[in-house]
Amino acid sequence: MHQQIVSLVRRAGVVGAGGAGFPTHVKLGSRVQTYIVNGAECEPLLYKDKELMRLCAERLVHGLRLAVEATGASRGVIAVKAKYHEAIEAMQRAAANQRIELCFFDNFYPAGDEYVVVQKVTGRLIPPGGIPLQVGAAVNNVETLVNVSLAAEGVPVTLKALTVAGAVAEPASFVVPLGTTLGEVLALAGGASVPDPVALEGGAMMGRVVTDFSRPVTKTTGGYIVLPRDHALVRRKTRSDEAKVRIARSACDQCSFCTELCPRFLMGYAIEPHKVMRAVGFAGDKEAGWARLGLLCCECSLCELYSCPEDLTPREMCLRAKKLWAARGVKPEPLVGLGRAHPLQEARRVPVDRLIHRLGLNRYDVAAPLSERTAQPAQVQLPLRQHVGVAARPVVASGQQVRAGQLVADIPEGQLGAPLHAPIDGQISRIEPDCLWIAR
Ligand code: SF4
Ligand code: SF4
Repeated sequence: MHQQIVSLVRRAGVVGAGGAGFPTHVKLGSRVQTYIVNGAECEPLLYKDKELMRLCAERLVHGLRLAVEATGASRGVIAVKAKYHEAIEAMQRAAANQRIELCFFDNFYPAGDEYVVVQKVTGRLIPPGGIPLQVGAAVNNVETLVNVSLAAEGVPVTLKALTVAGAVAEPASFVVPLGTTLGEVLALAGGASVPDPVALEGGAMMGRVVTDFSRPVTKTTGGYIVLPRDHALVRRKTRSDEAKVRIARSACDQCSFCTELCPRFLMGYAIEPHKVMRAVGFAGDKEAGWARLGLLCCECSLCELYSCPEDLTPREMCLRAKKLWAARGVKPEPLVGLGRAHPLQEARRVPVDRLIHRLGLNRYDVAAPLSERTAQPAQVQLPLRQHVGVAARPVVASGQQVRAGQLVADIPEGQLGAPLHAPIDGQISRIEPDCLWIAR
């Protein structure tokens, strides 16, 4: 049974749908004590996980049961925001007599950070720079475990759930074929309600600005926040690297708010973004020792989009620190911090409502229920690497007819990655080294 489900999930091309893209069969092939569903979705305005928990609770519980059995876990836990009453009721019904626990989170950011979820569910801190497996845990996103349940029935991953929010006529969540374009999902939401829109792919905090509306939805697309191009959040995210460093050097007053509210610092890890900022100002790139104080950054953006009163970019400087080390060809061990939570960790949680206000997104703060509408793209574009590992290799030829669900690109035996399947019936219209297209 164990090997069978691992093999089915591998063949179905299931990967971490929350943005990580790590092949799920690898997690299912490990031995853990606790298997966790991360339903503590915390990116402002994105609600597709909440909607999947509400509407696909039985699938989710089934997927978690399979994961628990495959890994020999003694606990299966669904982490969910306590405010999602309908989703909780649906999961409690689905989980009755299934030996599945629910673990309730307050509505703070970043509740969905894997380190935060593992700490709350298991009471243990993941070692600095480590992974949940090191404390006997595995974590998957909601949609990933729904896909595990489908994979057990031989259904491959060809669809993606996502939220389209922000400056659109009808904010909503949708399930669309992989390879549908951003422009097509925007049309599903009634189109942009501003004249010059851009989108934050992946969310307001951790997402990046995209202006190419022909970009395809992939297995890791979580959602889009559409905003006018001149929105302050867009302007901040599109500053040049040179400007970020120049401003960081000149304006940081070392108030240390960025560190005092940093969720990783509050968990007890040795990360102090204000010291990274200080070093950027004084030592520049000559002295790399300081950079270790930024290595444990989870890139949540809280320091620069919420904490810093000067609108500076400590997160960017932590990322720069990581790159600096990488450029020197070394991967230093992160520093070990307190190893226990800061006494004010709970008191310093940042409520999502307050964060939405700070980001200037209040006017877009509306529900995004799952819609029955879906896209019917005339053509889909499938990047061959939508996952961690090697790129999938096409197993079809240009001009070949394929059916929805048919394998179109595979991973060589023994290599890390995930195969790709046709999301629609059609003809292979183009194959390039990193992408293939299917047209109806
Ligand atoms: S919060 Fe801003 S001004 Fe204060 S130390 Fe951090 S980067 Fe500097
Ligand atoms: S982005 Fe900022 S707040 Fe978030 S973990 Fe990194 S340093 Fe801390």
